[in-house]
Amino acid sequence: MGAGIFFDTRQLGPLVECGDGALRCARLRSVTLERELVAAVEALAGDGLLRAPRGISSAQDARVVIDGRAVLNFSSNNYLGFANHPELVSQARASLGAEGLGSGASRLVSGTMTSHTAAERAIATFMECESALLFSSGYAANVGTLTALAKPGDVIFSDRLNHASIIDGCRLSGAQVFVYPHNDAEALTALLASHRAGFKRAVIVSDSVFSMDGDRANVAALRRLADAHDAALYIDEAHALGVLGPDGRGVCAEVRVRADVLLGTLGKAFGAQGAFVCGPVALRTWLENRARSYVFSTAPMPLVGAVAARAVGLVRDADVRRRRVLGHAARLRAGLRALNYDVPEGSTQIIPVMVGDAARCMALSEALLVRNVFVQGIRPPTVAPGTSRLRVVPMATHDDAQIDAALEAFGAVRGDLGWAK
Ligand SMILES: *Cc1c(COP(=O)(O)O)cnc(C)c1O
Repeated sequence: MGAGIFFDTRQLGPLVECGDGALRCARLRSVTLERELVAAVEALAGDGLLRAPRGISSAQDARVVIDGRAVLNFSSNNYLGFANHPELVSQARASLGAEGLGSGASRLVSGTMTSHTAAERAIATFMECESALLFSSGYAANVGTLTALAKPGDVIFSDRLNHASIIDGCRLSGAQVFVYPHNDAEALTALLASHRAGFKRAVIVSDSVFSMDGDRANVAALRRLADAHDAALYIDEAHALGVLGPDGRGVCAEVRVRADVLLGTLGKAFGAQGAFVCGPVALRTWLENRARSYVFSTAPMPLVGAVAARAVGLVRDADVRRRRVLGHAARLRAGLRALNYDVPEGSTQIIPVMVGDAARCMALSEALLVRNVFVQGIRPPTVAPGTSRLRVVPMATHDDAQIDAALEAFGAVRGDLGWAK
């Protein structure tokens, strides 16, 4: 029997007998796994939940090239249009020339490179905090930080719509986790009142802008509750930084709330990759010693640090871009509502267009792409079943005519799909 057959998903033949050699047994197991995966993938496809990324053959800009066609891009977190900014690209080149490509290992092993330190200094100054620690992604930062700060015997109170990386960090920490209904301060108060006392450390954790709904947390209420119940406040500003608040410093800065732990990402408005956690020096030192995703993972390439240090200045000075992206968002919200789309109230750059059914949501996304507008559909498990939606996100580098063109496409596809006007 040829070995190849076991690895061809189209030809899952009958299993052969096992017992005469470890290698064949291993192959047999992989056949079983493969069969199960094929069935699982088919089930996903049957439910309209199979996901595969689009191929993009251009830089990430206001327009991107998909299948050889330039289409308007409303699917990116590159809110300020910095992902292909010439100054950041040349900064990356300069860093490559001076520091080379790789970082070699975890910083605890191969050392902190000049650009890592430069980025952390620039971020701490910009964020007006004592110190910052770089991570290779926001996912790694949340998982590493939550697990370093909470353990069995501690308790975490987490908003139901928090980002998956917060959810995973909570679970992995081993702490008791109470998930409170989205943005429900009353429910959180009740949970704190009945459960806080039974645990050592308590952490309240929330996104400041929720990634798939685009609404804001009431961080002032969370601060008051944290103070009243001896809890630490942990705020993830991934979607707010660069766009909201004075100089783009986020929601906490806007309402003058101090978070004990504040997380920001560099992959969204900053246009690059990576993330940071801000707070007192003691927090940074503890994380550098105990956040496993920092300790046991290769440091970001030095060019990430160099670009981040430079991007901080661009973000701080980007008031015009902030006004543009938020202005575009307001115009899109109003225009989409006028076209009879279900768009919740909101004031951020993230605009959910609620569809409900996953297959219907993807049909809308496809029809828009035919009309040269790229808006990704968001389905379970990213959002709850029955709440599939398009996530429409303008960029500062769109012009007004492009916003109008997008709205026109949204109007036309209702006819294309035979939906009521
Ligand atoms: C995107 C996001 C993250 C993850 O950041 P990455 O750098 O993309 O890994 C974490 N938290 C929130 C709220 C996010 O939206």
